[in-house]
Order: sequence, then structure tokens, then C-alpha cells
Amino acid sequence: MKKECIFCNLKKTWIYDNRVFYTVFDIHPASPGHALVIPKKHTVSLLDLTKDEWPYLRDAIHKTINIIEKTDFVKLYKKMHEANPSKRSPWFVQKMLKHKSVRKKPEGYNIGNNEGEIAGRTVHHLHVQIIPRYKGDVKNPTGGIRTVIPELGNYK
Ligand SMILES: [Zn+2]
Repeated sequence: MKKECIFCNLKKTWIYDNRVFYTVFDIHPASPGHALVIPKKHTVSLLDLTKDEWPYLRDAIHKTINIIEKTDFVKLYKKMHEANPSKRSPWFVQKMLKHKSVRKKPEGYNIGNNEGEIAGRTVHHLHVQIIPRYKGDVKNPTGGIRTVIPELGNYK
């Protein structure tokens, strides 16, 4: 546990937890239902997880998706707007409330981790992102997470 680490200090907003991981909804969501699966113990890298911890990640991802699919996102983001958890959060939350699929159930997911600063990690406590996807949310979804390198994302 690190005093200055935000993910070591989030207990109030957990929506799920098991022995090793907990889940929260992202306060800067990229799509309705965007959630983060985070180890309870301060762990930087996915590669720092032990063999015993890995099965708990599988379980956490599975259970988190079940929760996402039962969540009323309008209610969630109205509540998040009231809680006002960060300076930037209201902008993202408004975007979600206006999102054309905010009343829909996700139709797909991008599940991933920014492994290292070069890959885009800004909080140095592991957080596996579960980003729900909706038909038509981007012009051309081909390649998915490959599009982090835009010119080489689409291989078709
Ligand atoms: Zn931490």
C-alpha cells in the first residue's frame, strides 16, 4: 500500500472484489461502462502478478463484465456527476450521458493494459481496462487495440 498511489486508496467506489483484485468504473470513461480491474496490493506490472494471482484476474474480468452488463449507465453517470471525483471527470461523464449507446448493453469489449509509460501508462499501479464497445461507436473498428498505432491498425 502506497499512500500517494490513487489505486491503493480507492476502496469507497469498488463495484466488485475478490481476494486479489477489485473493480471500479473509470471516472474518465472512454465508453459507457468502462471499468478497471486493479490488484489490491500495489503492483506495477502485469508481469509482477504471481502464478497464484492470475486466476483471480480471470475471475475478476468475467465478473466485472457481468456487472457492466447489468448496470444502468444513465444512473451510474448521473451519480458520478454528483460525486464529481476529479476536475476532468464531468466532461467525460457528460459525453457518456450523451452517448448514443448509453442505454444499450455492450456488444463487444477491448480488454487491455498499458504496459509501461511508453505504452501510455500514467498511473503506475496495474489497472486492466475493460472498454465496452457498441456497434457504430467508431467509423471503422477493424484492428481494435492495434489502432493505438493508427497507420498500422487496419490490416484489411
Ligand atoms: Zn498502488
